[in-house]
Amino acid sequence: MKHAYLHPRDELALTLDRIYRFKMTTTSGGNLSILDENGDIWITPARLDKGSLKPEEIVHVKKDGTVTGPYKPSSEYPFHKAIYACRPDIRAVVHAHPVSLVAFSCAKKTPDARITPLVHGLCKQVAFAKYGIPGSEDLGRKLAAHFAKGSDSVILESHGVCCGGATLHEAYTRFETIQWAAQSEVMAAQLGKPKYLTDAQLAFAASHLPKLASFKRGAMTIREKELRCKMCAFVERGYRQGLFSAATGALSVRLDAGSFLTTPHGFDRISVNPEDFVLVRNGKQEAGKEATHAAPAHAAVLAAHADVGAVITACPPNCLAFSALRRAIDTRTLPECYIFLREVGLIPFEKSISDYDMIARQLSMRHPAAVLENNGIMVVGEDVLSAFDKMEVLECSAGTLRQCLPLGGCTPMGKKVIDDIIHAFNLPK
Ligand SMILES: [Zn+2]
Repeated sequence: MKHAYLHPRDELALTLDRIYRFKMTTTSGGNLSILDENGDIWITPARLDKGSLKPEEIVHVKKDGTVTGPYKPSSEYPFHKAIYACRPDIRAVVHAHPVSLVAFSCAKKTPDARITPLVHGLCKQVAFAKYGIPGSEDLGRKLAAHFAKGSDSVILESHGVCCGGATLHEAYTRFETIQWAAQSEVMAAQLGKPKYLTDAQLAFAASHLPKLASFKRGAMTIREKELRCKMCAFVERGYRQGLFSAATGALSVRLDAGSFLTTPHGFDRISVNPEDFVLVRNGKQEAGKEATHAAPAHAAVLAAHADVGAVITACPPNCLAFSALRRAIDTRTLPECYIFLREVGLIPFEKSISDYDMIARQLSMRHPAAVLENNGIMVVGEDVLSAFDKMEVLECSAGTLRQCLPLGGCTPMGKKVIDDIIHAFNLPK
């Protein structure tokens, strides 16, 4: 879906539906707006069901304040207006009450965007606005003061969150990303003390962004077409299963001995198309496209292990909690986890973005999963289904360890049980 081609009414209705569908707002909460090129504001209406909003129910508020249509604009219209007035670069605003961010708003805290380089790049410093009565000019002033200072993501005390962007898609991605990070931060805090990236580590990440040379590709084989469609289905499935987010989740699948297909950089995981995937051959990407920043690491793993057919880098919420704790995930929770994942590795942050040889030594069919410190997880499989399955099992295992805590903690399967599993399933030592 190319958002730039949508009328504001359609884009707002679609985005609100997505927020509701993925449980990031209630029927009555949340509002979104777009400021168009004429200075008019398109905004979600007051008091209508957010679970079934239609494009024709979006309210059009003209620059002179005239409202067209039968509905009233959202009661939070004053703060949308105040943000646009102080930040000419912001052309869309998303406000809602997702549970983890409301938890931060009630605890009078902000989530730490330094959990991964990507979250920091999208959300930077998250600000905190003092309480104001919903719908009041006072709340608008308090919120706009933080946007005026340069924040794009602001927690509203005892209320929720507000994110701005140059487009609605950017504001939405920022909103979803900070909610995603907040969720993992809460999970990590249940297990220990999460760690965050320093300025030096963020600078290291910024100076190690991969730049692949390009090559002019030839005709597409039937196998490549088939693989592109299959990858599309798995990326969308990853999003719907809560394993990929709008901005996180990279998948590479081997095409032949010297080439693989990978996800593009900076795309929305819910609406990827077969033509979006990028062919990488001998370390070069097909001309006119930009591969995911995970591509060089994936290339190293695929080159080192002929039996690996697919590689995934992702930040599922429970796994991201372990990544922020800089702790490996114990797979001795149930036989399936140990059989699928064996012992999970832990890759230091700097290595995870610069030492591709080390990543290739750590990941193999014998050791198919690793936690990347403050950078998510990486899993491999003989094909895309196998890698996807391993990611799911790893996320379940991480969730199990967390949910065991209030029950008295996890007692991992002992050595004898593990030895019996190795023997019974003929697992390589
Ligand atoms: Zn609200």
